[in-house]
Amino acid sequence: MGEKDRVKKVIFFTDLNKLHEALDNFSIKTFAEKKVPVKLHMGEEKNKFFPKPDFVKVVVDELLKVKAEPFLHDTTVAYPGLRHTVSGYQKVAKMHGFTKEKVGCNVIIDDKGVKVRVEGKDYEVAKHLFNSTYIFALSHVKGHVATGMGGAIKNFGMGGVTKETKRKMHDGSKPVYQKDACTYCGVCAEVCPFGALDVKDNSWQKNNGKCFGCGVCVENCSQNALEYEDADLQYALACSTKACVQDKNVIYLNELKRISDSCDCDAYAKNIICPDIGYLVSDDPVAVDKASIDLIHDVKKDIFEKVTHINPLKQVEYGEEIGLGSTKYQSIEI
Ligand code: SF4
Ligand code: SF4
Repeated sequence: MGEKDRVKKVIFFTDLNKLHEALDNFSIKTFAEKKVPVKLHMGEEKNKFFPKPDFVKVVVDELLKVKAEPFLHDTTVAYPGLRHTVSGYQKVAKMHGFTKEKVGCNVIIDDKGVKVRVEGKDYEVAKHLFNSTYIFALSHVKGHVATGMGGAIKNFGMGGVTKETKRKMHDGSKPVYQKDACTYCGVCAEVCPFGALDVKDNSWQKNNGKCFGCGVCVENCSQNALEYEDADLQYALACSTKACVQDKNVIYLNELKRISDSCDCDAYAKNIICPDIGYLVSDDPVAVDKASIDLIHDVKKDIFEKVTHINPLKQVEYGEEIGLGSTKYQSIEI
């Protein structure tokens, strides 16, 4: 039976005191004596919705209880700002309360990586993830302007790789225009959430600076006049996640709280789009993200697509397609 045919266990709980019981369903005891990166997003400067240090400390304490050696981990980003460099990101982490005194372990930020080939392409996996066999993924679930939603797959797919790979993935998902097929209907310009396209008379123009590579235009062109420069960003995310986690022991904790309209990398994310729901734990990134989307859609139907105009399910479907995990899950509430 392939990975994608398995029904995966996803534990749901609302009381954080049940984290211990939830983790007991997975291989947490095998994390003993291992150096364990706790992969998380520590928030862009001025962002308000990133995972909070008191919550992160609860996770770190659980790892310390089984005698693991955890450290908080993230990577530098491709865009300008403090988090572009290791020292700048360390400053932001401190500013947001991620210090050894508050969370009980060190913070390590990676800027360098190691190439891992998945589905015929190379992704540079952050050094400390590459060198770890045991990883804890702590993912805040929220909307995302280019992928509809960000959860476990986004946490690794973009957050687990170097800024060179991040840039390549973003650039590779921008549209390439085929003049001969275009009828100048203007649909792509109408649906672009960022006003990056201008179609009039016999002219099609793209403002590259405004394009986030979300793929909405590509998917809405009925003439196949647009294609991805390299790949759909959500496909690339699934592949780079696989590069980060394949052959490793990973436990995924998704936090479904402060579910905001935009990512923790967005200093201007300001709206909560769904009430708090709780927490999900699994050993499968596809199952935990699919369960997160399903729970959120039960409360607010299609909210990610309504807010971002992007179908967030593509990343889990691609994940299943490439053997990253399974969209079939059994939800167990504790
Ligand atoms: S949607 Fe397609 S056919 Fe219509 S203007 Fe855009 S690229 Fe051309
Ligand atoms: S990829 Fe997204 S942001 Fe870029 S032009 Fe197309 S719809 Fe607009």
